Amino acid sequence: MIFEKNIAEGEKLVNVCGVTFGGAGLVIIAGPCTVESREQMLESASAAKEAGASILRGGAFKPRASPYSFQGLRAEGLAILAEARERTGLPVVTEVLDTRDVDEVAAAADMLQVGSRNMHNTALLKAVGAIGLPVLLKRGMSATLQEFLYAAEFVLSAGAKDVVLCERGIRTFENATRFTLDLSAVPLLKERTWLPVVVDPSHATGRSALVPAMARAAVACGADGVMMEVHAHPDRALCDGEQSLTPESLFKTVEGLRAVALAVGRRI
Ligand code: PEP
Ligand code: MN
Repeated sequence: MIFEKNIAEGEKLVNVCGVTFGGAGLVIIAGPCTVESREQMLESASAAKEAGASILRGGAFKPRASPYSFQGLRAEGLAILAEARERTGLPVVTEVLDTRDVDEVAAAADMLQVGSRNMHNTALLKAVGAIGLPVLLKRGMSATLQEFLYAAEFVLSAGAKDVVLCERGIRTFENATRFTLDLSAVPLLKERTWLPVVVDPSHATGRSALVPAMARAAVACGADGVMMEVHAHPDRALCDGEQSLTPESLFKTVEGLRAVALAVGRRI
């Protein structure tokens, strides 16, 4: 398996336009759930930058539970993301949902995201892997760690050199949170693979009040990065407002993470 090939040599560093996953640095990925408009994306992007994020996120193609919910701005969203990258100088990660959109999304992104609902979509994993861009692979909400690693293997065996794994919570009987954040996945994955591991406390908890604490816990247990959603007006967000931090709370959260990072020998 490629995912375990270099395990004796230690961790692999994944480079996204000069931002390094793995090693001593801790990567903060921040941005809105969804690109809703130019103004909203640019506002969130500058909040992400100000807080200390080094990668911007934002979905132009959205996986939604209902076909009647907003599905994303698609090409227009990608153009807005390009402008946000230009203005902030931060590289962009964005999700691709469909094999037919891979080329279009890859032309606009610095890192391709495969979301939880597509972790088992082997056609998409192969298409994304063949492009050669770094890939942020999110754990399926009901996937075992073995299945997660095999999904990474599909991407790597298709040609990608750089894959970052993202723990984003799994389905359990508990419904007080949106999902259950499986933080033991972080050290377990690090035992089995050389791939960097990041944690998404936003989708895991579904509640912005819980995000700072779970982000700190993620850093404490050895994550190489944290991905968080931010929105200037969470109450008006078209998607995932309940779990989105305000720009102020994102700033404070990252401040809190710096102290934890220092305690585990990392820096932001
Ligand atoms: C996202 O990060 O935009 C997303 C939809 O998350 P997930 O695939 O983990 O649900
Ligand atoms: Mn979201």
